Amino acid sequence: MTPEHLERLPRDRTVFTMVVSPIEVHGHHLPLGTDIYIAEAVRDRVVKALGERHPEVSIVILPSLHCGSDALPYPGSLSVGAPHLEGVLIDYCKGLAKQGFKYLVVFDNHGGPRHHLAISSASRKAWNKWRFQLIDPFIDIYRRMIVHDPELMSMTGLRPTECGDDPDNHAGTNETSLMMAVYPDMVLCDVREIRPSYPPELRGAAKIVDKMGRIFESLGRKRIGEDLRHLAQAMAWTGQEGFLPYMGAPALASKDSGEAMLRAHVEISLRLIERALAGDDARPAAILEALSFLRRLPE
Ligand SMILES: [Zn+2]
Repeated sequence: MTPEHLERLPRDRTVFTMVVSPIEVHGHHLPLGTDIYIAEAVRDRVVKALGERHPEVSIVILPSLHCGSDALPYPGSLSVGAPHLEGVLIDYCKGLAKQGFKYLVVFDNHGGPRHHLAISSASRKAWNKWRFQLIDPFIDIYRRMIVHDPELMSMTGLRPTECGDDPDNHAGTNETSLMMAVYPDMVLCDVREIRPSYPPELRGAAKIVDKMGRIFESLGRKRIGEDLRHLAQAMAWTGQEGFLPYMGAPALASKDSGEAMLRAHVEISLRLIERALAGDDARPAAILEALSFLRRLPE
């Protein structure tokens, strides 16, 4: 594109899109770019569907940002601290807002807690400063996966332990299925032979965080309670000596499950974009949003 192409775009009906996910180890059966490849596939489908449903909307595809926080602490991952990610996103929003644009949709497939908090914080600041909407639909989808949201479960036909929830959180059934759907050639071995990786017993700090979550839940603070219990699971897994770089059962993956999850990603993304275009604040709240300061803790 040239500046002239950009100049001609309608300011209130142009949606910028950008993939934002880290280079991260996904077991030994999926590539380091897994989150990026999945997010790009979702983006392509959303761009196509949005163009069909709303021919009046212009869509600009920005190059993917291979950048994400809380990548699995395993050799091969390249994690970018949350303050850096947040700063880059704020500056993208600032640059677009200064030219009069209003929307940046981030496509993402990475569930790191500080990753979502960084994106959500950038989104909040862009909204407060410039009434600019930075929307990451995966923030909404990820929570639905973790809490077994009834609508997501019925949209996908998937059950707990195969929908990317805590026992299937990383390169397990869900992500392997997604890769089988988008790039089957990049599923790098016969996954039927991979043994499952199960959530460990909660100990130490993870046990305390889980207990805090249960206390919040018993006090009626369901959301923060769920969020803390999810954090406890992640801490327990990656805090183990010699943990496996995947969580879940890749052997149970299937192309059909991946297609079902992709359709849900597309549908939920479209809904959020349509709400934003209609003038509503469509920005989803991240897991641990109430404890947003956690993003400042160094990795
Ligand atoms: Zn991933």
